[in-house]
Amino acid sequence: MKIGILGGGQLSRMLALSGIPLGIEFDFYFPNKMQALNPLGKAHVAEYDDWESLQYFCDQVDVITYENENIKLETLDFLAKSKNIYPDKNVLRVSQDRLLEKALFGELEIPTNRYMAVNSLDELFVAIQTLGYPLMLKKCREGYDGKGQAKINNPSDLSKISVAQCTNAIAEEFVRFDREISLIAARNKREEVVFYDICENVHRDGILFKTVNRFHDSAFAAARNYVEKVLKALDYVGVLTIEFFQVGEQLIANEMAPRVHNSGHWTLDACVTSQFENHVRAILNLPLGDSTSLSQACMYNLLSKMPDITTLLACKGSRLYDYKKTPEKGRKLGHISLLNDDPNRLNELEEIITG
Ligand code: AMP
Repeated sequence: MKIGILGGGQLSRMLALSGIPLGIEFDFYFPNKMQALNPLGKAHVAEYDDWESLQYFCDQVDVITYENENIKLETLDFLAKSKNIYPDKNVLRVSQDRLLEKALFGELEIPTNRYMAVNSLDELFVAIQTLGYPLMLKKCREGYDGKGQAKINNPSDLSKISVAQCTNAIAEEFVRFDREISLIAARNKREEVVFYDICENVHRDGILFKTVNRFHDSAFAAARNYVEKVLKALDYVGVLTIEFFQVGEQLIANEMAPRVHNSGHWTLDACVTSQFENHVRAILNLPLGDSTSLSQACMYNLLSKMPDITTLLACKGSRLYDYKKTPEKGRKLGHISLLNDDPNRLNELEEIITG
């Protein structure tokens, strides 16, 4: 069996690294040359509207998936004429747009923060009157890792907001959360579903910095109920992640990702079957693997500049993943997971990572 993946980043790489031991092959399709996938499978480097190259790619594979939400729906329409794509086009359509996502959560009675659509500065003023300060202004589409977002704390911050930022945007009430969590699930066509333990996430400047898995978490049952609703409503196939803010006992859905997620990278080392392998299994309609955590794990993203490998590996119990990417400010270059967290070792590792 061969899976075709749209996208050429670290998620594609980890999907392939997890599927290859099962005898599955991979082809990748992406517009910019990247080295990280070599030699895991054939790379098709072409634009997402290069129909000839897309057809050739499609002919090589049995089933298609994608590693990020920023793929045009027309690309999926074209490929869907010949091959199954999971998660399907409707899932991608909803998760590409924060307003559609929030509307889906609303329909399914999954709590969200209060929000308003914003398409002009005037509409932003109305949103501020309704939702108050501080307010998060986000582009509806193509924002990730805090990009396309601004926190407006008071009237003087408004002078920094451009017309472009107020177009196709969403204004959200700022949530003073106690913590951020995510829940990752996998579902195959036979409607078999598995859930991972709650991921407790710490973000810095809108980018995930650290995730810890939490056994028997008090928020698990509520989060599972919400994720289950989305899986059923969308007849979902693949891995789905929903991120929540927790305030007291209450969960507020922030956003969903129709794919393997950064907050689930610890599953590579701490679970019988990782989120990556379960995505591969789900889209091939194979039995899903055990998602139980075998150990405590703490995952740190390695951002902007790779720390020295010798120093990282000297930290006992750590598992390092280098994505082989060119360093750039704010870029995710790798991650490291530490199993069976000993507070001293965690502090030591955190100091190395934050320099
Ligand atoms: P997002 O791209 O929506 O996941 O936002 C990235 C991060 O910014 C979140 O994980 C939060 O830490 C923070 N954030 C986003 N929206 C809000 C909000 N409405 N209230 C408080 N913090 C937020």
